[in-house]
Amino acid sequence: MSVNVLGTDHFTVKHAAELYGLDAWGNGYLVIRDDGHLVVTPERDPRYGIDVYEVIQRLALEGMRTPVLLRFPQLLDAQVRELANSFTRAIQEYQFGGKFLPVYPIKVNQQRPVIEGLLASGRRYGLGLEVGSRAELMLAAALPTPPGSLLICNGYKDVEYLSSAILAARLGKQVVVVVEKPFELDPILDLAARGEPVPAIGFRIRLRARGSGLWEKSGGFASKFGLTTRQLLAALDRLAEAGLQKNVTLLHFHIGSQVTEIRKVKSAVREGGRIYAKLRSSGVPLRYLDVGGGLGVDYDGSRTSSDASVNYSVQEYANDVVYSIHEVCEDEGVPPPTIVCESGRMLTAHHSMLVADVRGSISGIDPEPPLLTGKEAQVVEELAEVERTINVKNYREFYHDAVEYRDQMYSLFNLGMLGLDDRAKAESLFWTVAGKTVRFSRKAKFVAEEFVELGLRLHDKYICNFSVFQSLPDHWALDQLFPVLPIHRLNTKPTKRAALVDITCDSDGEVDKFVDRKDVKEALEVHELIPGEAYYLGFVLLGAYQDTMGDLHNLFGRVHEAEVVLDAHGEVELRAMRRGEDASQALRYFGFDEEELARSIDIGLRARVEDGRLDREEAAGLLDDYRARLKRYTYLI
Ligand code: PLP
Repeated sequence: MSVNVLGTDHFTVKHAAELYGLDAWGNGYLVIRDDGHLVVTPERDPRYGIDVYEVIQRLALEGMRTPVLLRFPQLLDAQVRELANSFTRAIQEYQFGGKFLPVYPIKVNQQRPVIEGLLASGRRYGLGLEVGSRAELMLAAALPTPPGSLLICNGYKDVEYLSSAILAARLGKQVVVVVEKPFELDPILDLAARGEPVPAIGFRIRLRARGSGLWEKSGGFASKFGLTTRQLLAALDRLAEAGLQKNVTLLHFHIGSQVTEIRKVKSAVREGGRIYAKLRSSGVPLRYLDVGGGLGVDYDGSRTSSDASVNYSVQEYANDVVYSIHEVCEDEGVPPPTIVCESGRMLTAHHSMLVADVRGSISGIDPEPPLLTGKEAQVVEELAEVERTINVKNYREFYHDAVEYRDQMYSLFNLGMLGLDDRAKAESLFWTVAGKTVRFSRKAKFVAEEFVELGLRLHDKYICNFSVFQSLPDHWALDQLFPVLPIHRLNTKPTKRAALVDITCDSDGEVDKFVDRKDVKEALEVHELIPGEAYYLGFVLLGAYQDTMGDLHNLFGRVHEAEVVLDAHGEVELRAMRRGEDASQALRYFGFDEEELARSIDIGLRARVEDGRLDREEAAGLLDDYRARLKRYTYLI
């Protein structure tokens, strides 16, 4: 695909859209305007949009230079509508007698604007919350959720957790405490024994069905979560003995995030639905069937079951969930449940984008081979001869010769028989030969694996002003792919291919896998850098999980953030601007206090003044500089 697009002499924004695939993975929220700028279209109407490049210029005027994380709250709203409307349509189509209630799992992104945005958008759909820890529960208890919405309490539960859940229930929230491990029943039974109020209870079950993709381990018999069938029945017996069966209202399963195949969803829902129906017909008063999260996002736009994609749409997901539950309830003759869905990734992924500037490029190949004086060592001359005479017919053999000469050169150097000058020339010649080899090999119909690999090693690397560990943790930890593309110059042909390296001192701080509809690309098509002109790349679909999992490797802290909204008049409004962390804040996480650090510098400077190595004024200036730098952004300025 990409080869054809780049083959054209009349490159347009249409070619750029095809090359980067945004029509496939953008879910209708991104277009490229004729001036080559990337535009976010919250209403999926290309006539009204937010020019990302202009937003970056406006933020720079406010002193917020890239890297910047942009949030588009209108995309959260659009995603909530898409989820709720898909279930409403499915319920109507299958004349399902039950209802649909979404809950947002706050671990997916606990940022205040995200949660508040989702709750505001989800109010009319009864959007509740799902929590997985006591701290999350404390937050959820205090947030305004609509009447009738659920507060689902997952995660490890001790007595403290349970007491917090009871507090939320006493506030009038519809709390369901989901038992995931058999021992979690003990504190609940203790409450009853003491005559205290007992909350509504749910059970997380361990299905035979598993998910698919990077998070597949969350489901199946070996999973860390959920009760086996035997444990479930034993727990129900214990509750019945304590007279608490009436409290059991919900059955839950979750087979992992980003389930890539719809058949996995179907088999899990059929299995979970059957367990619901069997329990219901045996008298357990279940009202809710909670199908967990897992609804995936098509990050590469391929609509396949690859790890970066999903082979179904939101509507197909809703249809299959509703239909499978409807069918099993009809079959078993039990009343249909309210379907609860804990989708987080689907709701949040689209809403944020990181924009980073490229600070330069690294290339192993010199633009010109070195000039020779005729006094070089034999091995250098041999390499120069290969460089002069290699061509499309002989490149295999000549490249192998060059490898041999290069190895000889290093042996001679290590034996002390070659100078640095000759080594420099030989290295430069070798990489020029390698570059030519790759170019010639690309003209061949069949390319040997070694030349494909050589080609991969020869890409330029663009140095981007950001940290993979802070902003793209799942790429580092799990090789998860996120779309990346320039936010401007998209009306001109990108003439280079590059991997992207961050500014941490870690070789893992690199993005060297990129989405493609048919493949995974090892390099991204990028434009030549123009000296003195900024070049910006957008890392897209970062809204799920990345915000909360990032770390402070090399003390690169949180980036600047801003919410960007398109108002009713088509004007772009910037709000909730939040400055990224400065060095003093990043240091504080690790126990270093800025005042203490400045004092230590002060003591050092005074000693130098006393020794007569600095004068008083210089020392005062250096201290001021130090203090000022502690207050600066941790990224390149
Ligand atoms: N519910 C539970 C219990 C989870 O563990 C998760 C995440 O894995 C979710 C919901 C959210 O899943 P997703 O973001 O795939 O919708």
